[in-house]
Amino acid sequence: MINVTKTFLPPQHEFQTILSRAWETCWMTNRGALVLELEEKLKSYLNVKHLTLTTNGTLPLQIAIKAMQLKGEIITTPFSYVATTSSIIWEGCSPVFVDIHPEFLTIDETQIENAISSKTTAILATHVFGNPCHVEAIEAIAKKHNLVVIYDAAHCFGVTYKNKSVFNYGDVSTCSFHATKLFHTGEGGAMISNSKKVHETLYYHHNFGHDGPEAFHGIGINAKISELQAAMGLAVFPYFNSILKERKLIVDMYNAAFKNTQLQLLKIREGTQWNYCYYPVIFETETQLLKIKQVLEKDKINPRRYFYPSLDELPYVNKSVNEISRSIASRIMCLPLYVGLEKVDVHRIINIVKRNIC
Ligand SMILES: *Cc1c(COP(=O)(O)O)cnc(C)c1O
Repeated sequence: MINVTKTFLPPQHEFQTILSRAWETCWMTNRGALVLELEEKLKSYLNVKHLTLTTNGTLPLQIAIKAMQLKGEIITTPFSYVATTSSIIWEGCSPVFVDIHPEFLTIDETQIENAISSKTTAILATHVFGNPCHVEAIEAIAKKHNLVVIYDAAHCFGVTYKNKSVFNYGDVSTCSFHATKLFHTGEGGAMISNSKKVHETLYYHHNFGHDGPEAFHGIGINAKISELQAAMGLAVFPYFNSILKERKLIVDMYNAAFKNTQLQLLKIREGTQWNYCYYPVIFETETQLLKIKQVLEKDKINPRRYFYPSLDELPYVNKSVNEISRSIASRIMCLPLYVGLEKVDVHRIINIVKRNIC
């Protein structure tokens, strides 16, 4: 069975060696030595000033909306994972969708200003498949209209844009370390901000609002990551550069095979050092996608329709139609991409896809 992804696991004894430190101290959570060490390693690797690890990549979105005291309408993208939209609604705000760019697949920055109303308080956009949004244009719009900018950067571990971590753009960036993501802690995530003040408020919110053991800054939630999750992160971390290298080889094979076909491939924004996190292909029609998916599945290869459906089709959002997002969502599929995927299998996938698109 070949799935769209396969979790990278470090040698088990290396995980256990790190885990034994938690046994020795009998300390499982509440920001123990392993969490602190992982935070320092990630801050230094990513070159970001402030980063708080969390127990997943969804709570940071909710915390960011809550901590920045956002109300009313939040401009967002319909082409993302459901957590981007559900977090907005969960926090009592309304998502206002702006359609996406047909090639970059990120929010179409040229349409954002049209969507701003007197109730707009923020822009929550996703760097899709690690491809950065037009961050400069979004920053200019946000400044002009006094809006907060949050980036769902769940896919962006290791991505740089104009030589700095993509996490350094916007007021808050969030990341996911779910087991299916590029760098993972089983379940996990992070919130990143350049501002010390924003960082502190995010931090309090993720730990019940605590100001020391007996006082509170305000309301909070529990989004703390445990030592067990941090141990996985510390065990995976030394392999990250080789993970990138191995994934790049597979991406290069796919790119070479598909470049002169009718498939539309992801266009990466100029200035980006990408992280090879997904390999989406866009077919001419949904019918073609469904046919190829079926043929692959017959061969025990499981691609994934991702992102699908377009989030403006969710049953709990106000009706709106974002034509480009809906069209792309109906025709896009991610092909298998992971460390350990055999070259022969990559060729097999390529052949099946190519045979069936003509
Ligand atoms: C994975 C993902 C999330 C959610 O992260 P979890 O760690 O699974 O909570 C949010 N947004 C996007 C774009 C994602 O891909």
